[in-house]
Amino acid sequence: MQTISRQDMPVQDLVDALAGVLSPAQIVRDPGVTASHAGDWSEAPRHAPALVVFPRTPQEVAGVLAVCSRLGQPVAIQGGLTGLAGGATPSGVEVALSLAKLNTIEDIDTVGGTAVVQAGVVLEQLQQRVEAEGWSFPLDLGARGSCQVGGNAATNAGGNRVIRFGTMRDLVLGLEVALPDGRLMTMLNRVTKNTTGVDLKHLFIGAEGTLGVITRLVLKLSPRATAANTALCALPSFDAATHLVRDLRCALPALSAFEVMWDDYLEAAMEVTRLRQPFDAPHPVYVLVETLGANDERDREALERELGEALEQGLISDVVVAQSVEDGKKLWAYRESIGELLGQLKPFAAFDVGIPMAAMDAFVESVGSELERRFPAQRHLFFGHIGDGNLHVLSGPHASPDSLHQVEEVVYAATGRVGGSISAEHGIGVVKKEFLAHSRSPVEIELMHSLKALLDPAGILNPGRILDTA
Ligand SMILES: Cc1cc2nc3c(=O)[nH]c(=O)nc-3n(C[C@H](O)[C@H](O)[C@H](O)COP(=O)(O)OP(=O)(O)OC[C@H]3O[C@@H](n4cnc5c(N)ncnc54)[C@H](O)[C@@H]3O)c2cc1C
Repeated sequence: MQTISRQDMPVQDLVDALAGVLSPAQIVRDPGVTASHAGDWSEAPRHAPALVVFPRTPQEVAGVLAVCSRLGQPVAIQGGLTGLAGGATPSGVEVALSLAKLNTIEDIDTVGGTAVVQAGVVLEQLQQRVEAEGWSFPLDLGARGSCQVGGNAATNAGGNRVIRFGTMRDLVLGLEVALPDGRLMTMLNRVTKNTTGVDLKHLFIGAEGTLGVITRLVLKLSPRATAANTALCALPSFDAATHLVRDLRCALPALSAFEVMWDDYLEAAMEVTRLRQPFDAPHPVYVLVETLGANDERDREALERELGEALEQGLISDVVVAQSVEDGKKLWAYRESIGELLGQLKPFAAFDVGIPMAAMDAFVESVGSELERRFPAQRHLFFGHIGDGNLHVLSGPHASPDSLHQVEEVVYAATGRVGGSISAEHGIGVVKKEFLAHSRSPVEIELMHSLKALLDPAGILNPGRILDTA
């Protein structure tokens, strides 16, 4: 196969080559459309691609990749564009491959509890559809209304319920992937136990589209919970939160979320949402607790009993327990204000570090003080899915790229010192790759380069994400 360099190749040549795979309506050059594919939610520099392609079948995705490999044309893979690492943001020379039209829920097995879905299905649509069938897809995150299940798998998304159901990796039974050379690899396994050699799907989960395009997925469902109970707790310290999460995990098998917000976060959340202060006075730390079960009364009693004991022990200073689903949504609104906060603090530095629980308190204290000392005019908000050690830091607005970079250095150096992970769930993309060595060894990085060269020898697929490519 002869590879032609993309450099200086007129866009029309590419359009002509793609016309063998897609209809004209699926190859879009309209600036009104390309502008809306210029980037994700991160601060990575945006570029409107010269064209966006919208394949409708896995075979068309594979066909597009075959053409692009042959022509040496780099491609930015785009799901719902809610990523926070710049992975789906096109560089100046990349065309965009959008999964938005590959969006059919193909099958729901209501006996075995699995769903076969195309990659462009929006997470919230899947959640609602399986709920109607008496099941639940438990992955849940603030971007549920726009992010796609393919993007969730590519980033190994986590979210609010990892403490109970795991990350996206734990929810994927099978995958279908279009490889950069145009082959379609179907691994649509539906069974939980399958020991038949190397489980290749894991190569593509969390690879952020650098090794292949996920086209279809088999997802593991959970029985639908009929009772959701939520409480917002005010705590005297983060140390109290570490004891509370341990106690609640032991006592409440239905525990599904344990979200921590430090006081600055709650204050900022109240400003953007216009929600009221939930307690009579401010407290240093707040925890949003949720249980998902099958018996509303019994689950509420169990939650109230455990929280009552925590009050007596001084782990909690005050608590509000939702008395209805609507009340529960109001309590979640404090935590879910993150979308508005991201908009308000632009240009921001957003972190999703994984920190060992034992080191969390000191980490927040030292990083918080250093950021406040060096950037007194900015806001530095700490919150996260602390039940699984995932801390978010949102710092902004930072007008200069230099200031953003300095914040990154402070947070990632501190993360490396405590043996944490520089990305617990958003991925590396382009915005964190220079810090990858804080979390991965030279041998691991070398092997990642080898895998990239093996699967994508023409280097066309999301080049420069996770790793620098030559
Ligand atoms: C308000 C808000 C809240 C969020 N909360 C969370 C959270 O709690 N937990 C969490 O994990 N994330 C969270 N995120 C980040 C984001 O929603 C997730 O990373 C999500 O999984 C991205 O999905 P997407 O479809 O939008 O992917 P995109 O942003 O389009 O792409 C993300 C990466 O995956 C690649 N990709 C996309 N689709 C495919 C595919 N089919 N095959 C191969 N590669 C593909 C892209 O090239 C890119 O590298 C949040 C974002 C926002 C804006």
